Amino acid sequence: MFKSNDIADCTCGRTHDVAIWDIAIGKGLIANLHERINKLGLAHNGLLIADKNTFPLAGEQVIAEFSKAGKKLKTFVFEHEQKLVPNETSVGELFINLGLSYREQPDFLVALGSGTITDLVRYAAFIHKIPFIVIATAPSMDGYASVGCPLVINGKKQTIYAKVPLAIYADTEIIKQAPLTMIKAGFGDIIGKLTAKADWLLGHLHKGEYYCDKVQIIVDQAVATCIENADKIQARDGELMEKQMEALILSGSAMSMVGNSRPASGAEHYIAHYFENQMLKSGLTLYLHGHLVAVGSYLAIKCYEVLFERVKATNDAAMLNLFSRITAHLPSSTNLKEILQTVGIEYRLNALGIPRSWAKKAMLQAIERKDRYYCLTFAAEKGWLNDVVDQVLEEVEDA
Ligand SMILES: [Zn+2]
Ligand SMILES: [Zn+2]
Repeated sequence: MFKSNDIADCTCGRTHDVAIWDIAIGKGLIANLHERINKLGLAHNGLLIADKNTFPLAGEQVIAEFSKAGKKLKTFVFEHEQKLVPNETSVGELFINLGLSYREQPDFLVALGSGTITDLVRYAAFIHKIPFIVIATAPSMDGYASVGCPLVINGKKQTIYAKVPLAIYADTEIIKQAPLTMIKAGFGDIIGKLTAKADWLLGHLHKGEYYCDKVQIIVDQAVATCIENADKIQARDGELMEKQMEALILSGSAMSMVGNSRPASGAEHYIAHYFENQMLKSGLTLYLHGHLVAVGSYLAIKCYEVLFERVKATNDAAMLNLFSRITAHLPSSTNLKEILQTVGIEYRLNALGIPRSWAKKAMLQAIERKDRYYCLTFAAEKGWLNDVVDQVLEEVEDA
């Protein structure tokens, strides 16, 4: 069973407070959930929010467990035939049903689902200033423990600073039954932490940006365990599902611990978000976040390889030393390709219907994000950006 820890008086000079009261992952966890709910100090009336896929997984059981803990749970189930999108319509539908379920408002909310349900509930809880609890149904992304709330506003994905849940619970018996594409997406989001670390280290060592070794080590260990066991994903190995969920929750809470997304998101996420927005705009199939992060990671790792070659050619010892340090943990693009192939996740642009022009635009545009120092920002600083991007696109396998 997993337990998160706060870090008081960290060597980085800060105190890292996770702010989530209870986190638990384990086999058969839901069966005794009332014992944990009893300790949360919740008021009486709650609203359980699910969709028609997630409610049958554990809806009745969750209601019964809250009841054993003396809490009343009404329910609202999104009955959409199509994929639920966290946009104005879904937020509106949820808010209307919040009003319909209780005369004023519930005392707390419970999200039974993965990314979209959790984010809709996170936003509602944030606006209504009430706590929320997450019962996760898939190890599909690292947003469960995150303070950020990505919503689609006016057809564009934007992250609103909202709040973390009071508690997160994941029963491995439930999450291992998630669609394989969601499990793979979770792995894709985890793979993204490799270049996120390189970018954060680059910002720290080259630009003096704040960095926390302890928080990064927590993420590193969780990510390494998942990569070592990549071959067990297709079989939905229960132990690995627990480890993957733990890595996703840890990287989500690492963001809360340092107060920004640095430990979990770098250039690979910038690229993935660009693809996501282009897909929304063009009405193309929208792939799950983690699948786009996997493609973004392949491009970002290639970018580090191309940059390293250029750095070597300068014969600048200090710069060479810097690049050796920040890339020491990175697999080669060939290794990354092999890892992703083992899991069965696409790394090629074409396979996801992403035109090379989008990849080019995403990489060139990444430098516009002034509050994030990426490998691409470094390339621009050296006057190499256009050449590096062209070389990356020439060298990546895209079909
Ligand atoms: Zn620290
Ligand atoms: Zn992510």
